[in-house]
Amino acid sequence: MNGPRKVYIKSYGCQMNVYDSHRMADTLAPEGYVETDRAENADLVVLNTCHIREKAVDKVYSELGRLREMKDEAALAGRRVSIAVAGCVAQAEGKEILRRERAVDLVVGPQSYHRLPDLLRKAEREGHALDTEFPAEDKFDFLAPASREATRKRGVTAFVTIQEGCDKFCTFCVVPYTRGAEISRPVAKVIADVERLADTGVREVTLLGQNVNAYHGDGPDGKAWTLGQLLWRLAEIPGIARLRYTTSHPRDVDDTLIAAHRDLPALMPQLHLPVQSGSDRILAAMNRQHTTKDYLAVIEKFRVAQPALCFTSDFIVGFPGESDDDFQATLRLIEDANITTAFSFKYSPRPGTPAAEMDDQIDEDVKADRLGQLQTLVNRQHERFQQSCVGRTLDVLFEKPGKFDGQITGRSPYLQPVQVMGHPSLIGNIAPVTITGTRTDAKSLFGVVAQPAAQPHNAAVRPVVRRRRTNSWRRCGCR
Ligand code: SF4
Repeated sequence: MNGPRKVYIKSYGCQMNVYDSHRMADTLAPEGYVETDRAENADLVVLNTCHIREKAVDKVYSELGRLREMKDEAALAGRRVSIAVAGCVAQAEGKEILRRERAVDLVVGPQSYHRLPDLLRKAEREGHALDTEFPAEDKFDFLAPASREATRKRGVTAFVTIQEGCDKFCTFCVVPYTRGAEISRPVAKVIADVERLADTGVREVTLLGQNVNAYHGDGPDGKAWTLGQLLWRLAEIPGIARLRYTTSHPRDVDDTLIAAHRDLPALMPQLHLPVQSGSDRILAAMNRQHTTKDYLAVIEKFRVAQPALCFTSDFIVGFPGESDDDFQATLRLIEDANITTAFSFKYSPRPGTPAAEMDDQIDEDVKADRLGQLQTLVNRQHERFQQSCVGRTLDVLFEKPGKFDGQITGRSPYLQPVQVMGHPSLIGNIAPVTITGTRTDAKSLFGVVAQPAAQPHNAAVRPVVRRRRTNSWRRCGCR
């Protein structure tokens, strides 16, 4: 064999898929695979698919058509290329993928990707391999940890999955079928992962889960820990300066989480709390298991505990039966909760979900019109929030060089991209930045470093003190 084999992994969808893709690369590394960012150079192409977006399955098949041509050309040149389909479309479609697309060598569901090396060997032996089981073993016990080099390359922010699956069964969603029931990783394993990341210079960790605040992992005291408890413990790890988590369900918010937002300086003041609709009738049809009143009450509790918190959310417009009044209620909720950013989509049926069978499917033109209105409102609120930051000084974690010479870019506590002219040595550090303006589309902020970064890269920072402290973000009102 000449040199290492190359793997190209294309991630679709959410941060959990990006995280899974990293872990697949880590699992393949001991097998001699190195990552490449070009499919044409790869010996193995993995499509890590997502089933959430519209026409997800069609998009995967059309991508596979392109890869088939690439694979055929490589074969003519005497080079073998393997193609794997992973993720939620793999789980939902299963062997149908192998039937419809001859180029595919293996199909692996999200709970089985730790078996990738074995599946590749099986595909080589038998022509193809399929694993869409929900195995009894915990895949995280079998995944190779990322090498120090791989972690460094991925930068100063990282994701860690702490929870997977969902028991909620919203009527529009495939996740409970593709990811299985809710499970939580034990506290000790999460701590070990975050310590390893901190050791390689990671400063900010985002904890991931389909229902991350339903977390109930086994703690060292033999009891199930909540997300709030876990956050406190992770904040004690030297080097970890910032913590975030996503995605939450309003029903699973508990007092420990609210208290963490009140008292834990490392927990950033931005919370993604999906609601989907502002109409109780539609929420019931979606089986969301909460009302708009419940949602606003949860937001109010958070805001009383931590007035600086900003909220982002998810919305689906044009759910079956959604009337104009229902939609107007959604717009009102966006204003009442002051949602500053949102992922918003037109409803599209997912085969096998109850909503796909419902009467009163909404006309596409109506959906498009409602989506436009909703996005205009959210953009307006976002712009207002961005403008409210001008003139303030915010802590920025610098992540990488910017687009222009001499520019570096980072993130504010609210996840806003912030660009400054600054020395690259600031990358990996947190420094106060005075915000001087916003980009014309208000997507990012510009600023000047207010003073040199206090903390050297990877130093122990921010000893955890259980009392309120004045962070720059605590002065940045977004209401
Ligand atoms: S809470 Fe609802 S939307 Fe979220 S993953 Fe579970 S079923 Fe899907």
